[in-house]
Amino acid sequence: MRVDGTFIAIEVDDEAAEDADLARTLTEACPVDIFAQGDAGGLEIVERNVDECVLCRLCLDASAPGVVKVLKLYDDGALLA
Ligand code: SF4
Repeated sequence: MRVDGTFIAIEVDDEAAEDADLARTLTEACPVDIFAQGDAGGLEIVERNVDECVLCRLCLDASAPGVVKVLKLYDDGALLA
């Protein structure tokens, strides 16, 4: 799944996004509420908050490598590493 804002895009591996534990972990980790847990337990990306990303990396630290990608659209889509 991927949601694009104006400055930031968030991409999460589709299979991993169905994992309720990961959804809860990311929802708790992000300080600006970019992640939420849907009714079925899976991950949702909150489109209206995507551009609020503060590049804190907490979502990257809370997930396996490559599962979550934060793309800086203002920098030609460079990945937050
Ligand atoms: S880098 Fe920080 S603010 Fe941005 S999506 Fe990840 S946890 Fe949220």
